[in-house]
Amino acid sequence: MAILPLRYHPDPVLHRKAKRVNNIDGPVQKLIDDMIETMHDASGVGLAAPQIGISLRLAVIEIPPPDSIGPIVLINPEIVSRTGEREVEEGCLSLPGFRGNIKRSVNVVVKAKDRYGKEFKVKSDGLLAEALEHELDHLNGILYIDHMKEGETPHKIEPVEDSRDGEED
Ligand SMILES: [Zn+2]
Repeated sequence: MAILPLRYHPDPVLHRKAKRVNNIDGPVQKLIDDMIETMHDASGVGLAAPQIGISLRLAVIEIPPPDSIGPIVLINPEIVSRTGEREVEEGCLSLPGFRGNIKRSVNVVVKAKDRYGKEFKVKSDGLLAEALEHELDHLNGILYIDHMKEGETPHKIEPVEDSRDGEED
């Protein structure tokens, strides 16, 4: 496994719609393992392939304790439904040192293939719902700053050492 270098806004790969994964082959399996390792190294709750410069519809999510969900591997994920609206403060590994307030859904249902090619559905709320919307946005070339109200900008945060408090995806 390997830790892959992250891409940062305004890298064009982050602003482009990613392509579907056609074959879940050996290189894709290696990519999944490397993405999980990279997400752990960066203390992120999620990572999408465009964030390491690969324009494929592939993302990983892991929700830290106490919920401890995942790692979830999402291949060609699609939103099945989303309901409700709430305000969240969001960060992104591709925009280090900043957070911004945006609207996200309350409940999100996503379907995707897992790393074995099996289709599954995940029903979510809370941080998992937020992470799912955030990572699926990445696959469509959308960053959380694209959801901010006109005239609003992300605010700087103090660097957090060795912790998952940042909840960056
Ligand atoms: Zn992100």
